[in-house]
Amino acid sequence: DNLTMFDLKAGIDSTLVMLRPMRKNDVDLTCELKDCPLIECNGGQINQVLMNLISNAIQAVGTHGEVRVRLDADETGALVEIADNGPGIDPKIHDMIFDPFFTTKGVGEGTGLGLAIARRIVEQHDGRLDFETEIGKGTTFSLRLPLRQRHF
Ligand code: ADP
Ligand code: MG
Repeated sequence: DNLTMFDLKAGIDSTLVMLRPMRKNDVDLTCELKDCPLIECNGGQINQVLMNLISNAIQAVGTHGEVRVRLDADETGALVEIADNGPGIDPKIHDMIFDPFFTTKGVGEGTGLGLAIARRIVEQHDGRLDFETEIGKGTTFSLRLPLRQRHF
């Protein structure tokens, strides 16, 4: 519902602009965005997903932090990758991070809802939200969206 033809590249750009002030001084936030056809989706919700994933990445990194956002697309879909060089995610909590209210952040720092909301929105769009992580190296979340929604 509320489907529009959404410019994902512009959505990423504006999310990065909005998040710039929360970036600690020495966090290097860069993007490499290929041209992408318009995506049929609820643009407001996809912006919310981008915001949740990119703000997590910025929060995860410390000094010499790097966050890289990539956008790639083909005839069938788009792929957004958000890579950080933060601490990685402990294998013990891999099954929990998408649960509502699960957070490792302190009171007032995290609600534990960001990934739960993101995954729900992505699934409603017939997309996928996955991650790869290595302790001490960093984490990459990948968001895949089809160009078109199935119509019933
Ligand atoms: P919150 O950010 O409020 O804690 P989220 O649902 O966004 O809630 O994330 C849940 C948990 O997943 C975080 O508390 C953190 O432990 C882990 N997490 C999410 N993204 C990252 C990341 N990029 N690097 C390391 N841990 C992460
Ligand atoms: Mg979060």
